[in-house]
Amino acid sequence: MKYIDEFQDPDLARRLLDDIHSTVTRPWALMEVCGGQTHTIIRHGIDQLLPDQVELIHGPGCPVCVTPLEVIDKALEIASRPGVIFCSFGDMLRVPGTGRDLFQVRGAGGDVRVVYSPLDALRIAQQNPDRDVVFFGIGFETTAPPNAMTVYQARRLGIPNFSLLVSHVRVPPAIEAIMRSPSCRVQGFLAAGHVCSVMGVGEYPELAERFRVPIVVTGFEPLDILEGVRRTVVQLERGEHTVDNAYPRAVRPEGNPAARAMLEDVFDVTDRAWRGIGVIPDSGWRLSPKYRDYDAEYRFSVDGIQTREPAECRSGEVLQGLLKPHECEAFGTLCTPRTPLGATMVSSEGACAAYYLYRRLQLTPATREASPVV
Ligand code: SF4
Repeated sequence: MKYIDEFQDPDLARRLLDDIHSTVTRPWALMEVCGGQTHTIIRHGIDQLLPDQVELIHGPGCPVCVTPLEVIDKALEIASRPGVIFCSFGDMLRVPGTGRDLFQVRGAGGDVRVVYSPLDALRIAQQNPDRDVVFFGIGFETTAPPNAMTVYQARRLGIPNFSLLVSHVRVPPAIEAIMRSPSCRVQGFLAAGHVCSVMGVGEYPELAERFRVPIVVTGFEPLDILEGVRRTVVQLERGEHTVDNAYPRAVRPEGNPAARAMLEDVFDVTDRAWRGIGVIPDSGWRLSPKYRDYDAEYRFSVDGIQTREPAECRSGEVLQGLLKPHECEAFGTLCTPRTPLGATMVSSEGACAAYYLYRRLQLTPATREASPVV
């Protein structure tokens, strides 16, 4: 299949791997930012094919995983209210809040619906003018533009019974927070290609320069990952730290101007809490004052809900690359995809789910050596 098979060619993969093996002379720790990249790496065993000196650290780029428990609890509260139709993508329904999830709210009589687009939720609002329809808007720079467009359309079309529960986050401030952490081991980044296809690469040169870290924009197929790793280790071995676009078939330097204009119109940059990590300054978006009537948090007065995250789940360390999923004591025992303790086990992009799905149940020698918990 075009654009799929051509990026899974075993001969090309072997050549890229040979190139990486002959380039690397020292240990390097690279972080793949996106959960989709993590799944490609684990599913295809790419980390096991790399030289022992190259460690891949799994980053925080899974939208479900980084949505704070507090926001899940706000969603549960709103979805439980009489007269509300609560719409969400399916992967959020099993994410545990405090004591329950959206499936349980639906089982108890709440009107919780799975939709495939925020515009589906807007249509439901048009069809049910006497009900309050809320869409759960989470995720990174990739999901934010369609959600912004939906709020823009709600205002333009005069649909007053639609609102958005917003928990959008931005990648560059997370990279900065990771690099500022005293326990940071990351020496190079595979940046998330789809985020850059929206936002472009303009925010990265300053980060690369300030932290002297190479940032290579990388795609999601096995050959994309290998090429991203190859370009990153070449820079590291040469002592360079530039921004490099290894995903030009999808990413233009300026990104998608129409999507960026829509984001600018509808959202304001704000501080956001990341699950297990805490508040990162300027790392998210909220609806701008012009669209305040469409803000579910404001409309349902749930902004006072505050929640403490469960101590037994170590997803915060997983999301910061400080712990491999199978090094968590609960992994595969107390915590499985059927009985998830944390969002990184629920989401299809979560690192814990990837390790469970692809049977990474044993510690590798490298992780055993690097792990602070064994
Ligand atoms: S295995 Fe489960 S409990 Fe452990 S960090 Fe992952 S989600 Fe949390």
